[in-house]
Amino acid sequence: MKFTELGLDERIIEGIDSMGYETATPVQEQVIQPIMAGKDIIASAQTGTGKTAAFLLPVIHRILTEPQEEHQIKAMIIVPTRELAVQIEQAMEGLSYFTSVSSMAVYGGGDGINFSLEKKALTTGVDVVICTPGRMITHLNMGYVQVKSLKYLILDEADRMLDMGFNDDIMKIISHLPKQRQNLLFSATMPAKMRELARKILHNPLEINIAVSKPPEQIVQEAFVVYEPQKIPLIKALLAGREQQSVIVFCSRKQQVKQLTRDLQRANLQADEIHADLEQTQREQVLQDFRNRKVKVLVATDILSRGIDVEDIDLVINYDVPHDGEDYIHRIGRTARAESKGTAYTFITEGEQASFGRIEKLLGKEVTKSPVPEQLGPTPAYNPRAARPAGRGGQYPQRPNRGGHTDSHSKGTRHQGFRSSVHRPKGSSNSSANG
Ligand code: AMP
Repeated sequence: MKFTELGLDERIIEGIDSMGYETATPVQEQVIQPIMAGKDIIASAQTGTGKTAAFLLPVIHRILTEPQEEHQIKAMIIVPTRELAVQIEQAMEGLSYFTSVSSMAVYGGGDGINFSLEKKALTTGVDVVICTPGRMITHLNMGYVQVKSLKYLILDEADRMLDMGFNDDIMKIISHLPKQRQNLLFSATMPAKMRELARKILHNPLEINIAVSKPPEQIVQEAFVVYEPQKIPLIKALLAGREQQSVIVFCSRKQQVKQLTRDLQRANLQADEIHADLEQTQREQVLQDFRNRKVKVLVATDILSRGIDVEDIDLVINYDVPHDGEDYIHRIGRTARAESKGTAYTFITEGEQASFGRIEKLLGKEVTKSPVPEQLGPTPAYNPRAARPAGRGGQYPQRPNRGGHTDSHSKGTRHQGFRSSVHRPKGSSNSSANG
């Protein structure tokens, strides 16, 4: 679904465009309109599903389009860790870039300068505050936090907050808030104690469950960060040593499937293609040839990624990054069936790095970035964080020590060997608890 179909304010659509989002993720499709309509929500959705934008977009929309009291906090997002607070604040900055909606992350640690900045924002009524529980209570206890007109309360990663013992703190914060408000609760899991919390906070909530499967553990996943023209020589190099094996290569577009099949056939590989332009009988014949090992390399669109069961596939190659995490999991799940081992390679061009970063978030881990053969030349650096416009028109002063998107793109690193070192994405830090 396109974001323009959701009825979001034009200025927000501009922000979405600048973030490079093209279509809404499933959780976004399901919650954005109900939130705009004022419903309370309880959603089980984990990191990587696009849940942050799922609640930020409709909340920004409501703040922009409904009458609001000036100099009052309108929305409060309570999160378990300072890392998550910073991450949400960064998403907020990008998505609200073309609006006048202001925001501030409020979390423990830091110095007196941070505290004064937070105090100023909370006193003069920043629109959206993203906070860790303990720090918010410290501010609330001092009496200057302008919450009397607060309309939207969001609890993100609520299961983690309960695990970390924040239940009482959350209830204490809520005791300071107006009773009339919209409540949104996001959690990766829904244990019994979460239901209990939900019962106390939410009113007649809409329940949403975004189930995300995980790929089997025995699949070895690797990725190659490349420039577009390097894909053909790379796939030939990868396939050269694998003549006895069954390989599926996934491409997003039919045209690409046809072209790549021709290129591989020209390189004397036993390759064939399968896509929606073929008649059913032709498809069945190709599949039969593949099962019989007459065809060793099957180049396919996503019609093959779900459902069709071909045993003993040794290798899946994603010639491009699949649209979303679920597609990725379905594609690589073609290998390592019935407990056997399998390998999945993904080619990532510069324009696809952000998508792959999202898939890694969904997987809950980084996929090893393997070096390409040296003769292919320098490859791009891996930096999945999308570049964004810097700064925003005169809102609250920024924290001196906050995270930012200053990483430079594609410096061009040359890998020293084939299958040796690993590129680590920047900014992968462990979350630290913070009250
Ligand atoms: P989250 O689950 O909120 O942590 O989001 C995971 C990643 O997906 C973040 O890097 C977001 O910027 C990105 N993201 C969120 N929504 C979309 C979308 N509709 N299209 C592409 N990327 C998105």
